[in-house]
Amino acid sequence: RNMTVQDIANVLKKDVDHVLKALEFADKTSDTNYTKKTIIYNPQIIRDVVKISGFRFKLVPNPDQEIEEEENKDAVPAPPAAPEALRPRPPVVCVMGHVDHGKTTLLDALRDTSVVDQEFGGITQHIGAFEVQLSSGEKVTFLDTPGHAAFTAMRSRGAHATDVVVLVVAADDGVMEQTVESIRMAREANVPILVAINKMDKPGVNIERILRALAQHGVVCEAVGGDVQAIPVSALKKQNLDTLVEALTLQAQLMDLKADPGGFVEGVVIEAQLDPRTGKQATVLVQRGTLRKGCVIVAGSGWAKVRMLNSAEGRPVLEAPPSTPVAVLGWRELPAAGDTVLEVASEKRASEVLKWRHNQRMKEKQELDRAAIEAKEAAHR
Ligand code: GDP
Ligand code: MG
Repeated sequence: RNMTVQDIANVLKKDVDHVLKALEFADKTSDTNYTKKTIIYNPQIIRDVVKISGFRFKLVPNPDQEIEEEENKDAVPAPPAAPEALRPRPPVVCVMGHVDHGKTTLLDALRDTSVVDQEFGGITQHIGAFEVQLSSGEKVTFLDTPGHAAFTAMRSRGAHATDVVVLVVAADDGVMEQTVESIRMAREANVPILVAINKMDKPGVNIERILRALAQHGVVCEAVGGDVQAIPVSALKKQNLDTLVEALTLQAQLMDLKADPGGFVEGVVIEAQLDPRTGKQATVLVQRGTLRKGCVIVAGSGWAKVRMLNSAEGRPVLEAPPSTPVAVLGWRELPAAGDTVLEVASEKRASEVLKWRHNQRMKEKQELDRAAIEAKEAAHR
């Protein structure tokens, strides 16, 4: 790694003169005549230059002196809402279960029956999540990437997007390896399970056998004296899906799921991509506040001034209250799936946050580089 003074300036996004000035302080003892082309071999000097010029915006005269931490400019979630501001919100549901037990079929069937706005003949988009509305007006939000991947991706980023796991168990196959794995994952995440016993249209199914097997793995359904709801369905024949959705709304009531629809928006990015038609697009699941056109949001290394919100039916929506997934347009930089979404007061504030986050990432990268250099040195000694 032959870093020139210019390279350091580029990495730090600093003027090269600024870095040369920092070098004067960092390397007081030698009489090297630094220019922007000088290659710096001494990692200690690189470290000091980084320390002096990297994260501070003005030079400090003495590099040995402890430098004050830069003020934290990051966006942070608002404190918990006052109880009187909380309103019930729909549950956010993730479908899990053994391969071929019917997760995809179930999600497709639910999406077909969903169409919140029947008249709007829009084309259903896969935006990573969709809502199902009952005739009573109650809604359930489904994350539509089935299986472990979505669940773990969200979890690994510390995003607690899922309220309930629908465990799909094929009636003709019963509890299998990935069924047990799904149970374990839901347990670890402390997310309650609702069982959908699928493929009920098949002849000769034995529900009792399945309920007993589930109980052996700690999922004790109501029919065998527990408190887990088990709903027999046929995803293929679209049978009993309403009952499943109703059971989910009941589960939501039991859990007393609430959020503050006012104040700054908080949420999580479900997926993000460059859409060939719409450009930079990311699906945001709103968890707090109400997302509207004109909101300025930051998420990871991305940010947007919301230009348009679209539902999973490809329909423009004016606002997205808690538990609503919407495809957001207006991103200047795309975020990544799992990133936390936070509304900020202005575009100016967004760029300040992004800059701060960029510097933090640089800092982390430099820490890693530094550790690598030190490890290399140690190996040579
Ligand atoms: P996944 O791997 O869990 O996503 O399962 P799929 O949704 O891909 O379904 C696997 C197979 O089971 C497909 O051939 C489906 O048509 C079939 N299947 C799904 N649901 C049902 C159902 O309710 N009844 C019947 N008979 N077959 C189903
Ligand atoms: Mg599938």
